[in-house]
Amino acid sequence: MGINGHRRELSLVQKVQRKLRYYEQQVLAPVKYLAYATGQTKFVPPPDRMYIESTNICNLKCIMCPTGRGEVTRPKGFMDFDVFRQIVDEMAPYVKATTLHIWGEPLLHKRIVDMVEYCSAKGLRSEISTNATLLTEEKSRQLLEAGLSAIYLSLDGMRPETYESVRVNADFERTNQNIRRFIEIKSTDHYDTYVNLQIIQMQQTVDEIDEFVETWSIPGVDRIHVKAFDSWAGQVDEINELRAYEPDLPAKRYPCPNLWYHVHIYWDGSISMCDRDFNSRFPLGSVIDEDGKVRVMKNWNGPRMQELRRRHIENDLDDVFPCNHCTEWAWWKPTFSTSQGNRPVEEGDAQRDPNRLQKSSTLVVYDRPSTARHTDAK
Ligand code: SF4
Repeated sequence: MGINGHRRELSLVQKVQRKLRYYEQQVLAPVKYLAYATGQTKFVPPPDRMYIESTNICNLKCIMCPTGRGEVTRPKGFMDFDVFRQIVDEMAPYVKATTLHIWGEPLLHKRIVDMVEYCSAKGLRSEISTNATLLTEEKSRQLLEAGLSAIYLSLDGMRPETYESVRVNADFERTNQNIRRFIEIKSTDHYDTYVNLQIIQMQQTVDEIDEFVETWSIPGVDRIHVKAFDSWAGQVDEINELRAYEPDLPAKRYPCPNLWYHVHIYWDGSISMCDRDFNSRFPLGSVIDEDGKVRVMKNWNGPRMQELRRRHIENDLDDVFPCNHCTEWAWWKPTFSTSQGNRPVEEGDAQRDPNRLQKSSTLVVYDRPSTARHTDAK
């Protein structure tokens, strides 16, 4: 009942459901790891995390984003709510969390609040990353009340000129106000939504990161996320040029964990290897079968996924675009008991030493202990 000034509480059933899932996932972790480590391609257990593209339409033209730069040439659209519902129905028992964005601004989806609410009803953690330009007070309250588990609020810069040169078409003051109001409502009404305040590490922002961290280390912000620069598999020269630091790659390439741990579903139901294949250059089929029914698991282990996993195992990637251009596969590697969202491994409260940032690229400065398992964001 947050709208009236009270915190939304999970029902007893939801609490039990979440606990049981947590233990199930703990038990499944070694099974997943074995599938990855032994090079299983066909009978891969359900993914840890699900990335759902509510829409690939955006209201901004950010300079580090293929959508903003007009590089995403797939048809534009919004996910049908019934398709979304079927995806969640099938996958909620298995995945730890779902993000409701891949390419595009999720708040543009008319039913984004319903999506969050549906996940909550199914005991599935939901997360969104937003540019916060459309995060009105009303929308903030609706999202909090719907039980959003985590939000990434993107604010790249401390100065209007920095922010507005990166997030083209956004207004610095307006976005700041929206973010501060969201945090205020969350804190005042004691909502449990985990708030990540995010700045992307790039040439334009790197000199403002210290000040950003200091300024935003405030109650209500659970984590300041200095996000690694994602080159989106190095496909766009103008984006590559924005890098502040060169990536640090292991000597030997290993199969990309995303293909065993994360499912990415675009707005039209098509499956992608990860968000870096933003134009589906290596099509992997669709979760929507010929009879119109959604079947995620069947297609997660479909023939094209199997082939792609095999190509990774054999390191036969010369003609697998964009994996052959990618450096982000090295961001993380699973272990027997742990996996990671689609972002680099963190080094806790790392110092803001440029060399260290280059390696860890993700800086957790102010971290509220939480059961919320955050994934990543754009
Ligand atoms: S290698 Fe890169 S592009 Fe390919 S699936 Fe992994 S992260 Fe995505």
